[in-house]
Amino acid sequence: MQCVPFDDFSLFLTALRYCAEKHRMQRRKDAQRTPYLNHPIEVAELLWRVGSVRDASILIAALLHDVIEDTGARPEEIRRLFGDEVLSLVLEVSDDKSLPKDARKELQVVHAPGLSRGAKLIKIGDKICNVRDITISPPPEWPLERRLEYLNWAERVVDGIGEDNYLEKLFRKTLMEGRQQLGQEADLT
Ligand code: NDP
Ligand code: ZN
Repeated sequence: MQCVPFDDFSLFLTALRYCAEKHRMQRRKDAQRTPYLNHPIEVAELLWRVGSVRDASILIAALLHDVIEDTGARPEEIRRLFGDEVLSLVLEVSDDKSLPKDARKELQVVHAPGLSRGAKLIKIGDKICNVRDITISPPPEWPLERRLEYLNWAERVVDGIGEDNYLEKLFRKTLMEGRQQLGQEADLT
């Protein structure tokens, strides 16, 4: 049986607690208002299970991928607690919130090819989760057209990433199922 180094596991648990603390006031946008924390855990789990990622910095950055963008966590604190490599990954996958939303979305497509390998894996994991959420548990007020737009945009980001691995394959499958589901919903309306 493969063993996870003690120090890596210990730091991963610290990151999990940090992430829970930072996102404690937040909910996802679905009708059930799922605790936000479920999302970063799901991304890290996908990297571990589907991507077979065993690099502790990448798994910790997966847990922390939305803390700067969505909670205002300070980069200096992340560097102090988790080191330069984790901070660099988290910054790579964080949007610049000072820009308008459309520009941010376009920049994700433009920046995708130049991301580091770890940041690419986190991005794909994030897009798998969000495409799943848009399909199964979307924000209730979103019309079909907006959900479809989101799927198309996520595809452009992952196309730009240009990886060919199990995570990318799962993304394609999730996207295909999402489009089928939205097609069925469109037929019913
Ligand atoms: P948002 O950025 O507002 O929402 C999507 C993000 O919310 C996801 O990337 C995810 O980010 C997070 N999220 C939280 N809960 C859920 C959930 N249950 N399902 C899916 N995502 C969830 O929306 P858009 O990405 O669409 O960005 C806005 C864009 O939409 C603008 O470019 C604007 O032009 C366009 N727009 C279109 C409209 C239309 O009707 N067609 C109307 C209004 C705007 P994370 O991983 O970071 O948590
Ligand atoms: Zn996310």
